[in-house]
Amino acid sequence: MRPERIPIPKSFYSIETEEPMSTCLACDRPLLDGETEYLIEKGYRQYEAYDVQETVFEYALCMDCHATMRQSFSDLSTRRCRAYLAEHVNLAERAGRLLDAESPDPSDWTRHCVVHDTPRQELAEYQVMAHCMGTEMILTHLPLLMGGPAVDALVERLSDETIDDLGGFRDEHLGPSPKLQRDLQGPVVA
Ligand SMILES: [Zn+2]
Repeated sequence: MRPERIPIPKSFYSIETEEPMSTCLACDRPLLDGETEYLIEKGYRQYEAYDVQETVFEYALCMDCHATMRQSFSDLSTRRCRAYLAEHVNLAERAGRLLDAESPDPSDWTRHCVVHDTPRQELAEYQVMAHCMGTEMILTHLPLLMGGPAVDALVERLSDETIDDLGGFRDEHLGPSPKLQRDLQGPVVA
């Protein structure tokens, strides 16, 4: 599998600045110097009747901070989430297939829920995740899109301890928001 690098698509830009996100949410490290790998996560809600899409949250997290956050996952949570994903999706096969295209189209990575294959348009809520370095996005297992039902299924597999830790991360960095209560914060699958 040859990873491809492409300029970060505008859909992964910050909705506030309309530019690529420039600092890590947790440690404020600059991200656009080209040296630092990081993850972008964004959550959306759609209102079909109004044809409106709302960004519920967005952030970039450097790999060091991501690793720290992953350590807060209990072994049980990690095992259960991996087992759930392994049962439903073969990320390596998917990446190989998408990268095999004549000219890989990054939007192909996020047209459907990675777990249930639900088209994005039919999802009331979904999250997208991407792996970036500087101003480029790296196409591998990521980016991916996960619909609300799949996120809920993952949350059900997390231990109470892990959910508390993720809630603490969310409250500390994103601020408490009633809208976010059922959302999973943090790239569980990356
Ligand atoms: Zn960081």
